[in-house]
Amino acid sequence: MAASINPFEIACKQIDKANEYLKLDEGLIEFLKQPLRIVEVSLPVKMDDGSVKVFKGFRVQHNNARGPFKGGIRYHPNVTLDEVKALASWMTWKTAVVNIPFGGGKGGIIANPKEMSVGEIERLTRRFTYAISHIIGPYEDIPAPDVYTGPREMAWIYDTYSMHVGKPEPAVVTGKPVELGGSLGRNEATGRGVVIVAREAAKKLGINLKNATVSIQGFGNAGQFAAKIITEEYGAKVVAVSDSKGGIYKKDGLNVNDVIDWKINKSPKKSVVDYPDADERFGSDDPLYVEVDILIPAALENAITKDNVDKVKARIISEAANGPTTPEADKVLFEKGVLVVPDILANAGGVTVSYFEWVQNLQRFRWTLEEVRQRLENIMVPAFEEVYKVHKEKNVDMRTAAYIVAVKRVADAVLRRGIYP
Ligand code: NAD
Repeated sequence: MAASINPFEIACKQIDKANEYLKLDEGLIEFLKQPLRIVEVSLPVKMDDGSVKVFKGFRVQHNNARGPFKGGIRYHPNVTLDEVKALASWMTWKTAVVNIPFGGGKGGIIANPKEMSVGEIERLTRRFTYAISHIIGPYEDIPAPDVYTGPREMAWIYDTYSMHVGKPEPAVVTGKPVELGGSLGRNEATGRGVVIVAREAAKKLGINLKNATVSIQGFGNAGQFAAKIITEEYGAKVVAVSDSKGGIYKKDGLNVNDVIDWKINKSPKKSVVDYPDADERFGSDDPLYVEVDILIPAALENAITKDNVDKVKARIISEAANGPTTPEADKVLFEKGVLVVPDILANAGGVTVSYFEWVQNLQRFRWTLEEVRQRLENIMVPAFEEVYKVHKEKNVDMRTAAYIVAVKRVADAVLRRGIYP
């Protein structure tokens, strides 16, 4: 990953590019670029050895013109404020492109959970929840999981927030365990959405998903479910996967469930890299360069840059990760005729089912898994079609098309509400 590329600058450039077509006022565009609020907190945490360590955390609330701020919380040693600002901005465009009634926000803590005990992670999570408790809430700002956070952390956020407000408030956070009001289908939602749009893209290019080849960089929540769904439900072949420790390749297709079981339960390294039944072992980035029908980047930002884009040989890229492709690389991919389904559309399945979870919590009601999956289809497919139509009509890449749809939707909301006072 090229860490030197500032993701917030990229987020701003994407808005400018959409505005070449939308031609909105400069002041409005500036308003749409900047986050409405940034909160930076110091988080003292008692470590298991009795010492106190102070972590730094952020919550960025980008825009709430269309509804409460919404976005995940990331724990990673390389978290920066600019990264969280970019991720918050992308949430605004993501919720807009799939037309769900949320704005955009994001949180991050500079921490390496891999080097912390469960107790330390719990104390860090609860302290962070306390530190941002005055700005989150079911109608204000609703956090969710992101890299290295999951249902366990969301349960702690729910509990801590509820303790502070003196009543159970499940709708304050999504991605909770099902036992605590989490939605059925939330764990698979990002991967499922990535596959739904890859399927729609494949239809446009006349590619049959049965036996289509797939390569995946990053094998966590998003990557694993995308792999499972595209193989089990569509008969595609996942030939390459990787995680932060390295990757594997198998020409005839990997046994996805077995690789998942290996990574989670059997691997001494907690990695795919030592999975026995592979033809070849390679680096974390190498799945990006395999000749496949569908590439799914599902790790972190800036995976495909101007320096490595020439090595990418996929026909379709369905972006599970946020910000995996830089603007320079986008240009090259568009010229090469690669159909890139951009992050704000491709990985919106997660926030869409988060929205379903929130609706169910507010209504004290539960939907079946089939209902959740069907409703996800009902949102993702029309969103893909709308973006694809703009892509064709304006002869722009799919990312620019998605931004045109999303920025227009948020700008309309801002203009109709007016600038207060
Ligand atoms: P995760 O923590 O479950 O998994 C991340 C995976 O990426 C891990 O397997 C890790 O080893 C791997 N990884 C890290 N650095 C890598 C590298 N340089 N090369 C290859 N692999 C690497 O996280 P996740 O929830 O699956 O999120 C992955 C991406 O998807 C992130 O960009 C996240 O913002 C995005 N995303 C996730 C969701 C969601 O609901 N989980 C929703 C929208 C977007």
